[in-house]
Amino acid sequence: MSESPEVSVVIPVYNEEAGLTALFERLYPALDALGRSYEIVFVNDGSRDRSAAMLREQYQKRPDVTRVVLFNGNFGQHLAIMAGFEHTRGRRVVTLDADLQNPPEEIGNLIAAMDRGHDYVGTIRKMRQDTAFRRHASRAMNRLRERITRIHMTDQGCMLRAYSRDIVDAINACREVNTFIPALAFTFAQNPTEIAVGHEERAAGESKYSLYHLIRLNFDLVTGFSLVPLQMFSLIGIGISLASLAFVVVLAIRRLIVGPEAEGLFTLFGIAFFLIGITLFGIGLLGEYVGRIYQQVRQRPRYLIQAVLEPRPDERFREAGHRSTDTPTGTEAPAARNAE
Ligand code: UDP
Ligand code: MG
Repeated sequence: MSESPEVSVVIPVYNEEAGLTALFERLYPALDALGRSYEIVFVNDGSRDRSAAMLREQYQKRPDVTRVVLFNGNFGQHLAIMAGFEHTRGRRVVTLDADLQNPPEEIGNLIAAMDRGHDYVGTIRKMRQDTAFRRHASRAMNRLRERITRIHMTDQGCMLRAYSRDIVDAINACREVNTFIPALAFTFAQNPTEIAVGHEERAAGESKYSLYHLIRLNFDLVTGFSLVPLQMFSLIGIGISLASLAFVVVLAIRRLIVGPEAEGLFTLFGIAFFLIGITLFGIGLLGEYVGRIYQQVRQRPRYLIQAVLEPRPDERFREAGHRSTDTPTGTEAPAARNAE
């Protein structure tokens, strides 16, 4: 393994035993075919199936280009990618899903775009293979995000992306707990571009994202990168206060001219409930931001690493020098290592 390979590939893995073999069979040949030095960093995000064991086996097979970060629990896809980033050394870093929805053969095209001088390569899925609900919901969220943040991505959901070393270093310097990597990276990009890539159905296993998780993820995306929702609330508040002021004035005048009124009680209820609804939503939204602040100020470790499988530095040196055939034992951190 050379000291800094040209390309690092980061792949989060959570309960993917059914598809990992197929992934290995396509990923390694695709990268070998590039003719560039590379490393693959798998991050096992606390899988409860055989994924971790399969990653260990794969590490034994290709220790020259494989590293494995084993988490102590499930910390989520984006933190897994963060941890992967901290263990990459490549000049360019590509992220990819483990379920083969992002064809590994496209990595070459991403790298080619970087050769043209871009430091951030986003992707747009041609013929997206997901349920109609997922497609429509994600299009609506995309549109909202375009409006209220300064982040421009045609297809925010696709994780097959490439980043320059500078961007990855900037992300590594961030201490965010709940984040959305492609958006965070975009804020650091100087010359971003997007290319179209293929998209396939999940090779095996099922999606790890329930509706609840998707909603949470989108809240992270919106509240993590924009204050517009909060600011909208003060605007709505001003609008409503002005409208009610006008209403009171009208009622007062009416009372003087026509006399008191008791009709329209339920209309009033209707309006009151509507306003209560808006207020509750506003409190919830405040909670989203306060919750983020709370998580940030606690400064707990964002994730815990159980072990990292990688050749020891001396072995790495030997390999670089004489292509030694020793099977590296891997450096396993004895206790949980705190990534912070
Ligand atoms: N993933 C993860 N931790 C999680 C959930 C997902 O590391 O808590 C990984 C998963 O193994 C896959 C990627 O993130 O490599 C994307 O997940 P999935 O394919 O389930 O999402 P979808 O394609 O449905 O958006
Ligand atoms: Mg998927």
